[in-house]
Amino acid sequence: MNQVALPLTGVNSYLRLLGRAVAAQFASVLAPPRCVSCRSSMTSTAVFCLACAVTLRPLQPTEIAEKLVAFGHYGGALAVAIQRLKYRRCPELAHPLGTLLVRALGRCSPRRALLVPVPLHPVRLAQRGFNQAGLLARVVAEKTGHAIAFDALRRCRHGRPQARTSAPQRWENVAGAFLASPVPRLQRSHVILVDDVSTTGATLHACRRALRRAGAKRVTGLVLAIADAPPAPGQAPPPLRDTLSSWRTVLRSGPDT
Ligand SMILES: [Zn+2]
Repeated sequence: MNQVALPLTGVNSYLRLLGRAVAAQFASVLAPPRCVSCRSSMTSTAVFCLACAVTLRPLQPTEIAEKLVAFGHYGGALAVAIQRLKYRRCPELAHPLGTLLVRALGRCSPRRALLVPVPLHPVRLAQRGFNQAGLLARVVAEKTGHAIAFDALRRCRHGRPQARTSAPQRWENVAGAFLASPVPRLQRSHVILVDDVSTTGATLHACRRALRRAGAKRVTGLVLAIADAPPAPGQAPPPLRDTLSSWRTVLRSGPDT
């Protein structure tokens, strides 16, 4: 009897794809996609529902994009989603929120970069159970193919949570709080430093300085949101001009440190 001989690898990959499609279909029936902010069920795989999406204030690419890339301004549904990820122990939200980071990176993405998440102090990590920056960086790595280094940077001082300190205290709190390991892959690399929110820029500045001292050639911050004041749920977003002017002051102070 004549049989059609299909290459085994081709059959396997076809069955694997078919299996994934069926599993995705089942998953969407059993657990329909939900808005990352208000949790209402949606028919599409969008990150936010329509009602929440209108509260977003995406950040337009500006001249600060070389050193900082952000998806949007802190406030509205984006703020609620970030709060849920960090403080309500919803690490599963890192995946949809991570896709927003990939979207923000877009054209600014270098061909080759090393992703480094902003680390938590081990005490804070034990309290929270996960590092949201690490989860977000993992999603960016999956979607972009960039390498990721969890061991390149560590937080060696346990200060007060940045969200509970005033702007001047934030700079004091993180000065010298990070140590970078001069691992070979860091040398002369373009680092994309991943975090969820940046308020004063103090944390990113301290990390950037440590990474540059350890051999990184260039460091670009990548965050979901930038805010002018300590993040709080439902907070009114700051005016665009104010946010950008404060960031220009931070990022233009001295060489690329
Ligand atoms: Zn919603």
